[in-house]
Amino acid sequence: MRAFRRFTVRTVLPEPLAPLDELARNLRWSWHAPTRELFASIDPQAWAAVRSDPVALLGAVSPERLAALAADPDVVARVHAAADDLRAYLTMPRWYQSLAPEGADGSSGADRGDGPPRAIAYFSAEFGITAVLPQYSGGLGILAGDHLKSASDLGVPIVGVGLLYGAGYFKQSLTRDGWQHETYPVLDPDNLPLTALREDDGTLATIEVPLPGGRTLRAQVWRADVGRVPLLLLDSNVAGNDDAARRVTDRLYGGTSEHRLQQELLLGIGGVRALRLFSRLTGAPEPEVYHANEGHAGFLGVERIREIVELEGTSFAAAREAVRAGTVFTTHTPVPAGIDRFGVDLVRSYLGGASELPGVPVDEVLALGAEDYDGGDPTVFNMAVMGLRLAKRANGVSLLHGAVSREMFSVLWPGFDAAEVPIASVTNGVHGPTWTDPEFAGAAQEQFGADAASGAGWLRGEDAGGVSDGRLWSERGRMRARLVHDARERVRRSWSDRGASPAELGWVDDVLDPDVLTIGFARRVPTYKRLTLMLRDPERLTRLLLDPDRPIQIVVAGKSHPADEQGVGLIQKFVQFADDERVRERIVFLPNYDIAMAQVLMPGCDVWLNNPLRPLEASGTSGMKCALNGALNLSILDGWWDEWFDGQNGWAIPTADGVEDPERRDDLEAAALYELLEGTVVPRFYDRDADGLPRHWLEMVRHTLATLGPKVQATRMVADYVEQLYAPTALDARAMDGTGHAGAVALAAWKERVRAGWPAVRVDHVETEGADQAPRVGDAVTVRAFVSLGDLAPSDVDVQVTYGRVGENDELTSFGTLSLAHTESYEAGRHQFSATVALERPGAFGYGVRVVPRHEGLAGATELGLVVNAA
Ligand SMILES: *Cc1c(COP(=O)(O)O)cnc(C)c1O
Repeated sequence: MRAFRRFTVRTVLPEPLAPLDELARNLRWSWHAPTRELFASIDPQAWAAVRSDPVALLGAVSPERLAALAADPDVVARVHAAADDLRAYLTMPRWYQSLAPEGADGSSGADRGDGPPRAIAYFSAEFGITAVLPQYSGGLGILAGDHLKSASDLGVPIVGVGLLYGAGYFKQSLTRDGWQHETYPVLDPDNLPLTALREDDGTLATIEVPLPGGRTLRAQVWRADVGRVPLLLLDSNVAGNDDAARRVTDRLYGGTSEHRLQQELLLGIGGVRALRLFSRLTGAPEPEVYHANEGHAGFLGVERIREIVELEGTSFAAAREAVRAGTVFTTHTPVPAGIDRFGVDLVRSYLGGASELPGVPVDEVLALGAEDYDGGDPTVFNMAVMGLRLAKRANGVSLLHGAVSREMFSVLWPGFDAAEVPIASVTNGVHGPTWTDPEFAGAAQEQFGADAASGAGWLRGEDAGGVSDGRLWSERGRMRARLVHDARERVRRSWSDRGASPAELGWVDDVLDPDVLTIGFARRVPTYKRLTLMLRDPERLTRLLLDPDRPIQIVVAGKSHPADEQGVGLIQKFVQFADDERVRERIVFLPNYDIAMAQVLMPGCDVWLNNPLRPLEASGTSGMKCALNGALNLSILDGWWDEWFDGQNGWAIPTADGVEDPERRDDLEAAALYELLEGTVVPRFYDRDADGLPRHWLEMVRHTLATLGPKVQATRMVADYVEQLYAPTALDARAMDGTGHAGAVALAAWKERVRAGWPAVRVDHVETEGADQAPRVGDAVTVRAFVSLGDLAPSDVDVQVTYGRVGENDELTSFGTLSLAHTESYEAGRHQFSATVALERPGAFGYGVRVVPRHEGLAGATELGLVVNAA
């Protein structure tokens, strides 16, 4: 074929249909079924051909058809009504607007300094919003997309920042023998729901980031509108870049470590520059809070330090305090291998020498990501470590993951208990309107009205206006049938890609059965998720699949990172099992897992299986999407399920925690899975009454919808972020952000003084009064500590007593911690502190005294990592 060049000729919409462009470009259509129906009605065939992509649809419809539609008053009225509805959605006050009521003078809470943030920047390496914009690889990106959508629904003033990858993540297909095959079709941004930021004179607006050797990395900035939320995506494929620089944003998670570092420098440093550009061009308020979704975006803090140092002439240390105060960091992985680490020399070559950022010495940057702790590797730069050091507030993504993260990162806070490590948790959620089957959501809405959101309607009996068991079961059946239909098409396409002729594929019409218990399993394929655990005993699984009376069927999907040979091998092992003629109608692998597939798969399953190696699943969200549709979870107690499994909303696969041998552990956990299926899940699904209804099963479905439905919503999650993290962060940032960043300068100076003076801090002597007089419950003892502080003042420190019951193994179960009051000073920096401790419980009493730094600008006792424990 001859080489050709391409560009896109845009459709010109007839004037009466002009609002269609607005409707296509705001991604709200991706979760707003009425808008999608409007597009479908314009040309149902074209809509199917472009796979529900409004921008592509408008490009595919002929000018004649558009002219005919423009002449139809009915159509024009519907288009305008939809546009009015969108505009109302974009402008009406929502939940967030009620948080900071206007003052009598018309000021907002943010203006007065006491309200929630004026704006929040949310940085992520991937965003999964719709299959049309394939800029995600898995859960992290989908979560980021759901975060933005729910922020939009709540009216939270977020702006997203990410990269636009020329080929997104790869497309997956299978070879004849079941190997994953990857292709990277290049996207044309002009055919995506994106708008380029432009200067007033129409030229492309760009930002620049310095590269080694005097080179420059330029990027243009695309804007996607996610409802009310703008998402800025940086794209290095622009004129003026050399070839290597153009390729920086070529694909998501591809390439070498250096390529990845370039991407992360662009995301962090370039991302902040894109925000400034966006504010300059649109007047959008500057963010007060910066949220780094995982470590990839960590360089955003480095760039903000540069801004403050350059603008205000403060020290690096003072600027770092200001940046920390305004930053939130979310960690997503309890797997050390899942953390981004770069060679120190590589980072030095990018942020040192001629490409050093003004005011930001490379050694200071390297110190931020240094693994300078027990067991750390001095040759690497750790992005998660930098994330934690540059954020005053950090969190994991489920209760269990919070605890696991505190343990995992406790090396950064030697001398403190893991429980004190300053990493909180906000449990993930999913965006309801995106992940609930639209007809199912419609049915609930119609039946329960305002009650639909609370879930309470599901518990109502039929005579109290509830949904009957019969109706609920037929809805479940409709969603299952839709999945079966979709799966057959995908299996047919996959086999034809694998080289089978149509004549060989007659059997595909019998793949899956709309009446059989359907189990789903779809997620990325890192080893810890154990895709092939269900194959542990192939004969036992086969018996379950082929049971003549009560069979099960299994639908599986998932991409493996191409560099993960083990993952690719697991897919092949699975595919080879599913290819077997004996079982191929009951177990299938669907290639190219993406949002569009997930939206059909999750509602269509009866049971959603998840069997990670506990506790390596930080949260997991696919099971939440299932719960929204009345599918039941069958899962290892990991991530969110550990928190919300209640005995009736699904099943917990018992784990063999503590069994060291991984093979034996897999054997035990697989056996537990088969047992649950054979003994409980399958019988309950097929236990039908005279009306053919599985009453007990439906009880569990109702219970799931009613109790999990409201909890798993990403609006709940985003509200948690606002209340627990964004609002207090904005207050802290403002306290650091006055003229000349005086608060930050003072805090940095105080920290330096305390660090310098700390080696002199000692607990000389501790005594109690009242302990030797046979104390009883209700009595109190006085604890006195004699402490040397050197040059530090008593107000610089907190002397604390932690007390509780002493157990058989000499461990202390804490009842509480008290601060001792400064009661006397002596010569040479010696001081007495004391407190009265009430003895409220009988038994062996123990206590410990320690000294930690104290300042109102600190996040807590751990912030400086300084502590002196009494011997
Ligand atoms: C929800 C979702 C995920 C994440 O699922 P986990 O359960 O968190 O592993 C990944 N990919 C797609 C396409 C999804 O919809």
